[in-house]
Amino acid sequence: MDYVSTRGAAGVADFRRVVLSGLADDGGLFVPQAVPQYTPEQIGSWSWLPFDELVWRVVSPYVGGAMDEAAFRALLSDSYRDFDHRAITPLRQIGHNEWILELFHGPTQSSKDFAAQLQARLVAHFLPQQQGRALVIGATNGESGLAAIEAFADCANAQLAVLYPEQGVPPAQLAALHQANPQQVALIPVAGSFDDCQTLVSRLLRQWPLAEVTPICFNSTNWVGVLAQIVYYFHAALQLGGGTRPVAFSVPAASFAEIYAGYIAQKMGLPINQVIVSTNSNDALHHFIQRNRYSTRQSSRTSSPAMDFSLYSNLERFIWELYDHDGHAVRALMEHFEACGELSIGNQQWLRARVLFDSHAVEELQIREEVLRLFAETGAAVDPHTAVGALSGRIQRRSLGAPMVTLGQIAPSKSAGLLAELGVWPGPVAALAEPDEVRTGLQTGDLASLIQALRQATQARP
Ligand SMILES: *Cc1c(COP(=O)(O)O)cnc(C)c1O
Repeated sequence: MDYVSTRGAAGVADFRRVVLSGLADDGGLFVPQAVPQYTPEQIGSWSWLPFDELVWRVVSPYVGGAMDEAAFRALLSDSYRDFDHRAITPLRQIGHNEWILELFHGPTQSSKDFAAQLQARLVAHFLPQQQGRALVIGATNGESGLAAIEAFADCANAQLAVLYPEQGVPPAQLAALHQANPQQVALIPVAGSFDDCQTLVSRLLRQWPLAEVTPICFNSTNWVGVLAQIVYYFHAALQLGGGTRPVAFSVPAASFAEIYAGYIAQKMGLPINQVIVSTNSNDALHHFIQRNRYSTRQSSRTSSPAMDFSLYSNLERFIWELYDHDGHAVRALMEHFEACGELSIGNQQWLRARVLFDSHAVEELQIREEVLRLFAETGAAVDPHTAVGALSGRIQRRSLGAPMVTLGQIAPSKSAGLLAELGVWPGPVAALAEPDEVRTGLQTGDLASLIQALRQATQARP
C-alpha cells in the first residue's frame, strides 16, 4: 500500500515510513492512496471470525508488503492480549435496536488502547531497522497520553513526550499520568488548552529540531491510530447486521479520528447508513456538520472532558477525501484555517459529507438527565461521554430499522465521582491522591522551552 500526504507535496511513503512518522514532509497527514473495497458477500463471510482474525482481514491490505504475514498476525494477537473481555468490543443493549459498543476493555480503559497497543508493537517492530532513536510525542486531555504510556512501557527504544493542558486533565487521569517512568516519559504541562498543546506539537513537527531523533505522533494524527479504529466498526456491524443490514453509529467527538474511521469503513464497503457526530457544549464539529462553518474557539470544561477541545487534526484527512484527493485544495484550506482559525468547504463537498453524517450537541444538564435515564431504564451506569452519544443517537436517528450503535469510548469507572453524585454508581469511589509535583506549565507560544525540554528528555538515557 502506498501512502501520500493530504497536502499533495510529500511523495509516496510505505507503511513502515507511516508508522515511524509525525507529519508528512509537507506538513500534511499521511493517507492511503486507495482504500481496499469489498462486496457485501465478502464482508458477510467475515461474520464468524474471531476478533484478531477480523482485524487481520481489515488491516492487512494497509500494511501491504511491509511485514510478513506470520509476524503481523502474531503482533495483532498480542495487541489484544491485555483486554479484559473475551469479545474485545462487546455490545450492550440500551433500548429497542439501540446499543453501546464497549471500547473500554483495554489496559487503560479507553478506546485509545486500540490505537496505542497496535502502534507500540508496530514501532517496536520497525524501529530497530532504523538508525537512531524515536520520540513518541502528542497532546492529550488524559486518555490518549495514558494509553500511549502504558503501551510503550516495554518499547526500550522509544522516549515519550506528553503535552497536556495544565487545567484540562481530570484529577484521576493526572495522577495516573504521573505514575509514568520519568526515565522514559517527559510530562509537559502547558499553560493553555488542549488546542494550544496540539498547536505546539504541530509547529514543532513542522520544524523538527532534533536531527538524530525520529518523531512519532502517539494519537491518531498517526495513520495507525485511524487504522486501529476502523476495525471495531466492522466488528459491531457484523455482530448486528451480518455485513448486509445497514447499521448506524453515534460517535462522541473525542477526536475526529473515530468519526473518520467510520467513513473509511463505509468506503471499504461496510453498510453504514448514518454516522452522528455527537458533541458536548464544545460544539465546533456540530457547527461544521450543520452549517459548514468550522472554527476553533475557547473550550469550556464539562463532565465529558475528553471532548473539551475544538482542534481536530483528522478533519484534514476527511477533507482530502471530500475533495477527491486534491492536495492543493486541502493545503489552501488548511493554511487559511491555520492563519485565521476558520474553515468552510465547498457546498458540493459539504453535501457529500452530509450524505453520511449528521450531528448533535448536548448541553451539560441533558448529559446528566441521560445518565439518569439510562440507569433507570437499563440498570447501566454509563459514562457521560457515552451518554452524549446515546442521546444524540436517539434524537438524530434516520431509521428505526437500522441498529443504532453508540461508541462507548471511556469506562464508566473513570467518572465514578460524577456517577456517585447522581446516585447511579454501585461501588465505593476511590479518594484521589494529588500528584506530588505540580509544575507551572509552558507558555502556549514558547516553542524554545519545549525544544529545550525535549532535548533534555531525549538525552536523559545513556
Ligand atoms: C484522542 C485524540 C485526541 C484527544 O486526546 P485525549 O488524550 O483522548 O484527550 C485529539 N486528537 C487526536 C488526533 C486524537 O486521536
